[in-house]
Amino acid sequence: MAQHPLAQYLEAVPDFPKPGIVFSDISPLLKSHFTETIDAMSALFTEAEWAEIDCLAGIESRGFIFAAALAYKYNKGFIKVRKPGKLPNVAASIEYGLEYGSDKLEMQKGDGSKIVLLDDLIATGGSMGAAASLCEQVGYDVVGMACLIDLASLNSFTYNDMTVRSVIQFSD
Ligand code: 5GP
Repeated sequence: MAQHPLAQYLEAVPDFPKPGIVFSDISPLLKSHFTETIDAMSALFTEAEWAEIDCLAGIESRGFIFAAALAYKYNKGFIKVRKPGKLPNVAASIEYGLEYGSDKLEMQKGDGSKIVLLDDLIATGGSMGAAASLCEQVGYDVVGMACLIDLASLNSFTYNDMTVRSVIQFSD
């Protein structure tokens, strides 16, 4: 399958943030093709699906970029899924395992809104899965998940039978 044309603006950075890891840096893409990137993410959902969505939730911090831009484009609300200690009035938190150690996400109380969860990249799905279950725990209805880059590409990660939609897919 041909790669999405926006993939050429990503930069593969070896040994970041740790030796042996090749980090996919979205910075050059955001700098040169921000509008095209947001439009490509918009196209992951149909107009009928967009009409049903109330809010976009972004996972700190790169998820904020996409959730905020899409919220503006579709006139939806914006919700933050934050790292620990940043939010007042936290209703719930979730701890999840990383390759080495663990991380934590926090959210304020939800109101039953139908939301789409956004991040820049999905690898194991650990962050997206934890964020999705936290969204439901605080009282949101997760109706979709999307990211710019899917490293798994086989869509092996699912949450409530939903796969994560993505613009660019890489497989090893
Ligand atoms: P997962 O939890 O799916 O294993 O990893 C995805 C999370 O790690 C996302 O929040 C993403 O921002 C971050 N991440 C991991 N590897 C990369 C990478 O190569 N590039 C970017 N931009 N983010 C990454």
